[in-house]
Amino acid sequence: LRRNPGEAEFHQAVREVFDSLGPVLRKHPQYVEAAVLERICEPERQIIFRVPWVDDADRVRINRAFRVEFNSALGPYKGGLRFHPSVYQGIIKFLGFEQVFKNSLTGMPIGGAKGGSDFDPRGRSAGEVMRFCQSFMTELYRHIGQYTDVPAGDTGVGGREIGYLFGQYKRITNLYESGVLTGKGITWGGSLVRTEATGYGTVYFAEHMLGTRNESMHGQRVLVSGSGNVAIHAIAKAQELGAEVLTFSDSSAYVIDERGVDLDLLRQIKEVERGRAADYVARRPEARLVEDGRVWDVPATVALPCATQNEITKDDARRMVGNGVAVVAEGANMPTTSEAVALFQQAGVLFGPGKAANAGGVATSALEMQQNASRDSWSAEYTEERLAGIMEGIHDRCLETADEYGEPGNYVLGANIAGFTKVADAMIALGVV
Ligand code: NDP
Repeated sequence: LRRNPGEAEFHQAVREVFDSLGPVLRKHPQYVEAAVLERICEPERQIIFRVPWVDDADRVRINRAFRVEFNSALGPYKGGLRFHPSVYQGIIKFLGFEQVFKNSLTGMPIGGAKGGSDFDPRGRSAGEVMRFCQSFMTELYRHIGQYTDVPAGDTGVGGREIGYLFGQYKRITNLYESGVLTGKGITWGGSLVRTEATGYGTVYFAEHMLGTRNESMHGQRVLVSGSGNVAIHAIAKAQELGAEVLTFSDSSAYVIDERGVDLDLLRQIKEVERGRAADYVARRPEARLVEDGRVWDVPATVALPCATQNEITKDDARRMVGNGVAVVAEGANMPTTSEAVALFQQAGVLFGPGKAANAGGVATSALEMQQNASRDSWSAEYTEERLAGIMEGIHDRCLETADEYGEPGNYVLGANIAGFTKVADAMIALGVV
């Protein structure tokens, strides 16, 4: 705590992992002897830089940006970029730390990193976003590369931003280095299914969790929060599997639509018009906009938090259990507070932590890197089959590890231990570096 003052989210993420590791440290003292715990929570490299840009009114603007290269024992650093006004070092470090274990769980050869800026893209013109991305990459380019560090999107960074970032990287380096960024467009080195992968993967994970109770997504009443990339594709896959999706949200309000969310309308508003939740309700009279409530108040059986960190509090969790929620799979990173996780587990709710349930996005990014390396592009069917197989593998690895350490059904413990041991073994094998 003294080494990283004021980084509340980072402390929360480290505590959550370390709380699971007691049994593995007792069984494998070599991890303690090699100071793996001390090393694993200290990023290998942290870069902080200024991003100057000019807005549409010709005013010079300054933002602060970060790239935290956390751990490269398993492969090149890999993890998204977040553009959101709440970004500071503690957020990027929590995300980078989580990414180390998530990437390990995928079974792919990728290390962990995260980056971003306190730039707020909301309300900015496309020209302003482009100039910001170009300035951001003018510093970042010297730190990244297909064998060093491969950023991707996250909150506030979608296909449009990756395009501007890749364009500037190519212009500065004179390299068409497709493998330097993932989340690219299909005609310029991207992978089919990458955009959908995080949301789809979260629903596959939830389907496997339900399978342990001989149930499926079919007929479930599902709560989704958020209405960005992860939320939209989680809604799409849940509906495809026969679930009734009742809600979505943004930072201004949530929407309840008892007839089931109209995905085409939602996509038109969010992806094409870049509008708000209220615009959906204006065109769908049967839906209701709630500006002063919690999306988690709605009675349902499955919850997929897909917006942001710490969006499910202990009070939310208590109401959700009372309202019939039996499965929670995290599409966002750390959307559930530690107290809420404990409450779910005590109440017998199946709880899938983000580092396992939302790993489909980064896993498909690694598939994009494979396609780039072999100058190939795979079909949507084949890529989605690979994604589905990876999610099943992660799910089963979590459960097997939880069984092995005497806590059957504890996905948090299973994900933390399975993610940790692989990285820790590699760190020991590589020596004190
Ligand atoms: P987007 O920017 O596409 O969407 C984020 C959504 O969450 C928006 O609807 C946004 O509303 C809402 N939101 C953001 N902050 C808040 C807040 N403080 N309160 C309420 N709603 C909020 O991001 P993504 O969908 O890509 O990411 C969502 C989550 O999933 C993040 O935690 C991210 O780290 C995680 N994730 C994303 C991956 C990916 O592949 N994209 C991979 C793995 C995890 P508004 O527009 O009003 O801000």
